[in-house]
Amino acid sequence: MSAATALEPYQPNHGARDFHVEHYGLDLTYRVASHRLDGTATLSVVTLEPVDAIALDLHGLAVRKVAVSGASLARYSHRSGRLVLRLRETASAGARLTVTVTYAGAPVLVPSPWGPVGWEELTDGALCANQPTGAPSWFPCNDRPDDKATYRTSITVEKPYRAVAHGTLVSSRARAGATTWVYEQRAPTSTYLATVQVGQYDEVVLAEEPVRQVAVVPPTLAAAARTAFSSQGRMVTHFESLFGPYPFGEYTVVVTADELEIPLEAQGMAIFGANHLLPGSDDERLVPHELAHQWFGNAVSVASWQHIWLNEGPACYAEWLWSEESGGPTADELARLWHARLRRRPQDLVLADPGYERIFDDRIYKRGALTLHAVRGALGDAGFFDLLRSWTARHAGGVVTTEDFRAHTVDAAGGVGGDVLVVKVTSQLRAWLDMPRLPALLA
Ligand SMILES: [Zn+2]
Repeated sequence: MSAATALEPYQPNHGARDFHVEHYGLDLTYRVASHRLDGTATLSVVTLEPVDAIALDLHGLAVRKVAVSGASLARYSHRSGRLVLRLRETASAGARLTVTVTYAGAPVLVPSPWGPVGWEELTDGALCANQPTGAPSWFPCNDRPDDKATYRTSITVEKPYRAVAHGTLVSSRARAGATTWVYEQRAPTSTYLATVQVGQYDEVVLAEEPVRQVAVVPPTLAAAARTAFSSQGRMVTHFESLFGPYPFGEYTVVVTADELEIPLEAQGMAIFGANHLLPGSDDERLVPHELAHQWFGNAVSVASWQHIWLNEGPACYAEWLWSEESGGPTADELARLWHARLRRRPQDLVLADPGYERIFDDRIYKRGALTLHAVRGALGDAGFFDLLRSWTARHAGGVVTTEDFRAHTVDAAGGVGGDVLVVKVTSQLRAWLDMPRLPALLA
């Protein structure tokens, strides 16, 4: 481990701070039956300070070849999930290097406090569930949520499998026995939101407006998917009115033939299990939740997992907003319900700094949503939704911290209600974000 990666409490043993990856070119071949991945990754790297080595994250797979242009490679080592490229001479800050890594093997999931994550075999295919540290199970990367890059992903699979990656499909070329699918992702993307999905899938168009929406599903689930996602087009329109323009060129929902514990978001995409399509279940709320992540988490990303409430609070609040819009309980009714529930649970969690082990604690989701509801109460609807839209407009493609949100909100409060409202919102945010005790809902 280099000094640059040490002692990052929310990113243990992943990522480096001394370089940035601008672009990943991934050329992958995956064999479903043998679960074998062959890859060549070409990384466009910019150094941020003088460096003697480039330390990438790559878990489990065997490195066959490494090449560097723009600097001279002395040697490399690959141990404990770190692929370290030692340079013959120090590269100065701002140096541009191209790093090419050829690798192969059966992807192995990366252990995490929440169970193993990454490239996972399905009964008949594969999925990527990277969050938070699984991306190195399938490509060498600077595995930090704030090191956002563009991607070109080429993925070859045998017929009759379809491969889907994040971004826009730019070509699919069929040869004897196999098809190569190429996707371009021009929006800056965190490594955990990069994805490949492989299965015997059909593509079903769900809506063309306001953005093209498709479902990628096993043929036997096509009808169920049409039903389960029937309101998604209206949902995108509604969220655009509240959050600002949909941030990407497309929205794809993948439904696996297997059951999945939870759905998950990727860039311009969400992945659901067959079990999430069942009508009348509580799972219907997950459709707006995953969609909302495209604005909150994917376009506007966290600078560190410490700030995950900025992803999950708005995504949870979007569930409540859609409930209200679609004739269910209102956001205010749901806020009161969850406030009452949280009051009965331990109040020992600080939203602004929950600790790495608790970044997926459900209280972060609910308290994050309640924080937004409290801000809405203070600013009024017009001021609050202006705040959300100016937040996404300002930070789309970038990364944010809780302090950024605080500053943005206090600024908005000044515009709506002058110094009096600034004082009120400042103290309100302190109570919601910095103290473990649950504040009253509309103090
Ligand atoms: Zn979420």
